[in-house]
Amino acid sequence: MAQLQAAPPSLTLEIRSCTKCSLHEGRDHPVVGIGDGRSGLLVLGEAPGAEEDRTGVPFVGRSGRLLRSILLQELGLEEEALTISNVVRCRPPKNRTPTKVELATCWPYMERQLAYLQPRAILTVGNTPSRALLGTTEGITTLRGRTYDRNGIVIVPTFHPAAALRGRPEMEAAIRHDVRLLLPLLKFPS
Ligand code: SF4
Repeated sequence: MAQLQAAPPSLTLEIRSCTKCSLHEGRDHPVVGIGDGRSGLLVLGEAPGAEEDRTGVPFVGRSGRLLRSILLQELGLEEEALTISNVVRCRPPKNRTPTKVELATCWPYMERQLAYLQPRAILTVGNTPSRALLGTTEGITTLRGRTYDRNGIVIVPTFHPAAALRGRPEMEAAIRHDVRLLLPLLKFPS
């Protein structure tokens, strides 16, 4: 899998050496992101799981692979056109939800990455990135199914694909619906 530039080198180095919150203690590889933003779409997850911590690449576990295949099928993108990152860069113990303090401590990296990538649209996957980007406490079931504007960037919240792997096919159908909302917003690489 090609590792393109999802962040400027200085930001990548800072994230890789960051010790600003206690999550650095248990991590192997923080996630900076993959892709270079040419499609205009950024996919944002919560935080690394076991596979992501092992590789430093986002969305490579079972549910991540499902999401990637949905994105490629529904948007007609090549794998290398996917730009993916996490709002929290280091794996929380036992995959727990990041705390508000951890999220707030890590957030300045996200702001800098957004300034660098300048996405047209962001697919926020699950509660944590959706709430963080939209500044709300509403849950993903309420938020998903429509688009939002955040300072000129279109935000599309959707379910985490893990829900679709728990024997709930309607979840995958809902994710596919949300992903298709992104179609008019893509900038295809020339
Ligand atoms: S989660 Fe973010 S703030 Fe915490 S150590 Fe990792 S990179 Fe730094």
